[in-house]
Amino acid sequence: MKNPQVKIYNTLSGKKDALKPLSGQKINLFVCGPTVYDFSHLGHARSYVIFDCFAKYLKSMGYHVFYLQNITDIDDKIIARAKEKGVGIKDLADAFTNEYFKDMKALGVTSVKKYAKATDHIKEVISQVERLIDKKYAYTLEEDGIYFDIAKFKDYGKLSGRTALQAEDSMSRIDYSKNKRNRGDFCLWKFSIQDEPSWTAPFGAGRPGWHIEDTAITEKYFGAQYDVHGGGRDIMFPHHEAEITQMESISGKKPLARYWMHTGFLTIDGQKMSKSLGNFVLINDFLKRYPAMLLRFWVAKNLWHTPMDYSETAIIEAKISLEKIEEFLRKLKTLKTAKSAKPADLKKALKRAKEEFYINLADDFNTPKAFAALFEFIKEINKLMENGLLGKKEARDMYKFFEEINKIFGIIDFEKIKNSNIPQEVLDLVKVREGHRKSTQWNKADEVRKEIEKYGYSVDDTQDGPVVKKIH
Ligand code: AMP
Repeated sequence: MKNPQVKIYNTLSGKKDALKPLSGQKINLFVCGPTVYDFSHLGHARSYVIFDCFAKYLKSMGYHVFYLQNITDIDDKIIARAKEKGVGIKDLADAFTNEYFKDMKALGVTSVKKYAKATDHIKEVISQVERLIDKKYAYTLEEDGIYFDIAKFKDYGKLSGRTALQAEDSMSRIDYSKNKRNRGDFCLWKFSIQDEPSWTAPFGAGRPGWHIEDTAITEKYFGAQYDVHGGGRDIMFPHHEAEITQMESISGKKPLARYWMHTGFLTIDGQKMSKSLGNFVLINDFLKRYPAMLLRFWVAKNLWHTPMDYSETAIIEAKISLEKIEEFLRKLKTLKTAKSAKPADLKKALKRAKEEFYINLADDFNTPKAFAALFEFIKEINKLMENGLLGKKEARDMYKFFEEINKIFGIIDFEKIKNSNIPQEVLDLVKVREGHRKSTQWNKADEVRKEIEKYGYSVDDTQDGPVVKKIH
């Protein structure tokens, strides 16, 4: 099948747009990273897991994806939290940056090519502020900072459809100043205050505003324009609107990003999961109770731009669905029937299943529809297996399709499926032997191999790790 044209819902145009990269098969994707003042919760996981799946999906469609994410490691919230805890600002930011990386690793978020910290890009921020001053978009408020005059940018509001700030907007404290020219003017640079981190700059020592770090970073790695910008709905305004305002004013080129993808909220009892409401479940707490693959599956099977509600019931339902896939794969793996009754029909059924799956993904990354089609296929094939109509060759091809799917979604533990008939004692011994091999204790590893053989199993060491087989 020829790859279908990918379409995604674009906040900027308000419709589904065909994804056409600026340059060949290359897609530059930027997603706003975390503000590192605390642990990450499931709301963060929702956004980062879905973008991870989306980036991997684009790769599977043959695109070369440069996925860039910033880390906001200087911000009011970080300064306030460090003061509250009596710890160094940099120490706090570094500690939570590490926690964030640990969470992402545990969640299998592996598609980000570059994490860019705000504090490593101060030179680029300063250059942007200077250009905005030169072009008269920015003005200085003495003993306060440098602000963007939104009245000077006629397209202000084109992303969110809004031009005024309201009380509920997620805006940084440093944007409040009674002396601003317009209520919505946002801070580009905050002049230094005693004991707060500051960097020297030609227009006065200080630190960056929240929005400017992102455009400074994307300009450095992508240039003035790029393909896709992602983030949660909550930061569409004023944050993303401000990014557009800054970068398009500096470069004179528009749009900053051609496609703007905003993920729906993860809610709990219908309310956005957030630190400020105190209704959050931390990623690391969740992972003490459930596997990361289950979290990925639960996130992945929801449409990315609609809200999804967290509850124990929702997780259990996802667990049951995922177990259906696992059980199906286990059956395919251990199938005894040598030959299919109607191989040509089965080939067609698999082709159809693949087409449906990928056509749904191409249509606005519609994962709920793609997974629904997959479950229909599982139902159909299960029936054939029960009647002994599926043979080993076709079963192997179907199994491969699920391996392909897993490269995008990371939801199936193939090791567990491969090992499902192997006694736990043997699996434990294999782990012990791996430990010995890693520490080059070859004699000990050989002794454990003999133990394994006593159970009637052999172990082969392959590039992908040990493969355990029953000795016939
Ligand atoms: P923050 O560190 O709060 O700036 O959030 C980092 C990213 O996670 C942003 O893209 C947010 O929009 C996203 N995010 C935060 N809370 C939620 C939530 N409850 N549901 C979905 N995305 C969220």
